[in-house]
Amino acid sequence: MDKFDVTVIGSGPGGYVAAIRCAQLGMKTAIIERYNTLGGTCLNVGCIPSKALLDSSEHFHNAQSKFKEHGINIKDLKVDLKQMIKRKNEVVEQTSGGIGFLMKKNKIEVIQGHATFKDKNTIEVQPDKGKKITVVTAKTIIATGSKPMSLPGIEIDKKRIISSTEALNLKTIPKSLILIGGGVIGLELGSVFGRMGTKVTVLEYMDSIIPTMDKALGKELAKSLKPLGFEILVNHKVTGASVKGNVVTVAAEDKNGKKVSVKGDYCLMAVGRKPYTDNLGLENAGVKLDPQGRIEVNDHLATSTEGIYAIGDVIKGAMLAHKAEEEGVLVAEQMAGQKPHINYRLIPGVVYTWPEVASVGYTEAELKADGRNFRSGSFPFKASGRARASMDLEGFVKVHVDAETDEILGVHMIGPRAADMIAEAVVAMEYRASAEDIARMSHAHPTFTEAMKEACLDATGKRALHI
Ligand code: FAD
Ligand code: NAD
Repeated sequence: MDKFDVTVIGSGPGGYVAAIRCAQLGMKTAIIERYNTLGGTCLNVGCIPSKALLDSSEHFHNAQSKFKEHGINIKDLKVDLKQMIKRKNEVVEQTSGGIGFLMKKNKIEVIQGHATFKDKNTIEVQPDKGKKITVVTAKTIIATGSKPMSLPGIEIDKKRIISSTEALNLKTIPKSLILIGGGVIGLELGSVFGRMGTKVTVLEYMDSIIPTMDKALGKELAKSLKPLGFEILVNHKVTGASVKGNVVTVAAEDKNGKKVSVKGDYCLMAVGRKPYTDNLGLENAGVKLDPQGRIEVNDHLATSTEGIYAIGDVIKGAMLAHKAEEEGVLVAEQMAGQKPHINYRLIPGVVYTWPEVASVGYTEAELKADGRNFRSGSFPFKASGRARASMDLEGFVKVHVDAETDEILGVHMIGPRAADMIAEAVVAMEYRASAEDIARMSHAHPTFTEAMKEACLDATGKRALHI
């Protein structure tokens, strides 16, 4: 029987970061992970493998569609999917192995097995092999993450109706792929295959793809995805899916009730994820769920049971790795008597399509709904020298600012390296910068970041210099 100050359940970005911070702050820490690899969804079947395939497929796509114009001719260009998947798996193994190293370095005890609460201070762990282990702990951080969601009446059979996990390991490039849901997972993984020649059909319930982001972004992204062969059907609610042999048929209806049926090799279910608390024994520890099945937490991420906290995908809020990480740090520092704070409004959202999409702060629709008096400025990448040099002319940066104070309230961008560029907006907004502040700062030339400066110039008195 082992005794710990803190035990973390789940080794995803929430859990492993929480464990490291607890150990840094002097707590005797254990982490329990039911799989044999550390890193959770993000490292094993999420962020990292999807980005590895996005990078590989982007290289192929560029070689096919852009190299000639750059003066580079390649004969017999083709995809070796087996090698692409092998490289992806190596990236995952190395990254997950790195977490093992960090656990050792910080003297965190790693326990393999499925954790179940027996009471609020006792956790029973069933390893893959061997007998159950009992862990006694003063405090616990639950970071058990999420799993793919499906629609009523549609079973993810993992063969033809697949989730992101299976899509990351397909053996052949599908001729056709149907995406149920035009959100982040669908569009990222759809891009991977679309770039390699798959005909992708998107069925999205809302009136635009990536509907929770600023409307202008979804519109622009749809334009960029069409040349990849994407057929995008918005305002289409999927109602069923069936498999016959190697063909999957997805049924949907538009907002007027008109029925459509789409056939494909595979259908990727990408309608969101749900919190994972199976066989966690929450009832034995008195930990309550909210009506959406998430672990209920207060502003300090404390659950209904004293000494038990929850973070990441298993609680409310955006299901993002960096959100889970911030929460892991917050809980650890609170336990050590510190007073950390997370500004949830400033957690950026990124979609790793090409062009990339990135966003932080209020959207135009939110500002309008709040009755805020705001101004907007924007700058298109087609007017950027750097973007012209790299042939990445699609997209723009859009900035919303308070009409009276000029404080930046939201930044929404679609374009080359937007995923990295959004960091400037986060820093600016954390320091409550005005558009004038950014407009007066030197941005290296030629860089994509100049588009941010120009959008701020546009927002403060329409004085963009290069348009
Ligand atoms: P998870 O990463 O889900 O980890 C939870 C861990 O807990 C798992 O390892 C699980 O095995 C373990 N566990 C569960 N129950 C138990 C138990 N009872 N006992 C022991 N162990 C248990 N987010 C981004 O920010 N950027 C991206 O680019 C991005 N890309 C993504 C791509 C895909 C395809 C997917 C599916 C997700 C992506 N996400 C991305 C979301 C991101 O993966 C999650 O938000 C993040 O992993 C949540 O971290 P977490 O620590 O809360 O949970
Ligand atoms: P999502 O919420 O991004 O998108 C789901 C989409 O499905 C929505 O647009 C929704 O309107 C649509 N939908 C729901 N029901 C439908 C129906 N019956 N018919 C048609 N469309 C329907 O969810 P996701 O793409 O599955 O991703 C899950 C989570 O993983 C997200 O919370 C996301 O934050 C996270 N993730 C993040 C990244 C990233 O940060 N780059 C990448 C992948 C996943």
